[in-house]
Amino acid sequence: MPLQSLDIAARSATTTPPPGIRKTLEVAKLIDVTKCIGCKACQVACMQWNDIRDEVGENHGTYDNPRDLTAKSWTVMRYSEVESQERGLEWLIRKDGCMHCEDPGCLKACPSPGAIIKYANGIVDMQQENCIGCGYCITGCPFNVPRISEKDNKAYKCTLCSDRVAVGLEPACVKVCPTGCISFGSKEDMKDIAEERVVELKERGYGNAGLYDPQGVGGTHVMYVLHHADKPELYNNLPPDPAISPMVSLWKGVTKPLATLGLAAVAIGSLFHYVTKGPNEVSKETEKEVEKELEEEGKQ
Ligand code: SF4
Ligand code: SF4
Repeated sequence: MPLQSLDIAARSATTTPPPGIRKTLEVAKLIDVTKCIGCKACQVACMQWNDIRDEVGENHGTYDNPRDLTAKSWTVMRYSEVESQERGLEWLIRKDGCMHCEDPGCLKACPSPGAIIKYANGIVDMQQENCIGCGYCITGCPFNVPRISEKDNKAYKCTLCSDRVAVGLEPACVKVCPTGCISFGSKEDMKDIAEERVVELKERGYGNAGLYDPQGVGGTHVMYVLHHADKPELYNNLPPDPAISPMVSLWKGVTKPLATLGLAAVAIGSLFHYVTKGPNEVSKETEKEVEKELEEEGKQ
């Protein structure tokens, strides 16, 4: 159910405009990967707050567990070992999950009315009661985030703890992080914190440090401070320039208007036919044939 205390700015597969939205502060979570020690407290807090328990996985030679996002693991820690001549071996750890895009491809691709909503504060949330399990949201997401549950065939992902945020609390992962690597607040404040940190990192020799807030999706409400912002792909394939798939844009931008035009053409054609030929009329012969058939049926 959508949270009553948060205004809805957009709903999937809905053309009616949302009701008046109060001026709302846009929120954001800032993940400073340069402070992350990979303890997974955030991953555990997410499962605990949302009451989801994933299967116990197997060791595949890395600390990633589970190895990917699932319908029951809405955030997972990604551990990348990167070697360079300049810095030797580096361990780059990133908390993966929904980025809460300003222009969410999942919402654009979803064909089910109200299965995905975007709140005015920027949070993108799935509404499982409206989900038909088609998986189009996965195709539409440039970060490959939503997952369909095998149990109920519904899509799941991080909610940015919209239920906590609605009552003035921070997301569970922010509360538990022991190094202060995750901050939460207004998007503007988070950008200010990031800017200060990037200056510090540059002074410490990370000349390419920067903020990850990709404009291809209109910016995100989950942002990263990266030591190597020039190469986000080093952090377990974080896309350097994510954008909504052209197929999704085509569906929304061309196919839908074309379908509307087609319907309009049929209506105009029918009207033209009526004006030039008049209403459909049944000939006297056909009327007599039908009457005869009815009479015969009545005799039987
Ligand atoms: S990261 Fe993917 S699932 Fe999350 S809001 Fe963006 S498009 Fe939707
Ligand atoms: S699976 Fe995804 S795209 Fe399909 S209805 Fe559910 S939320 Fe929408």
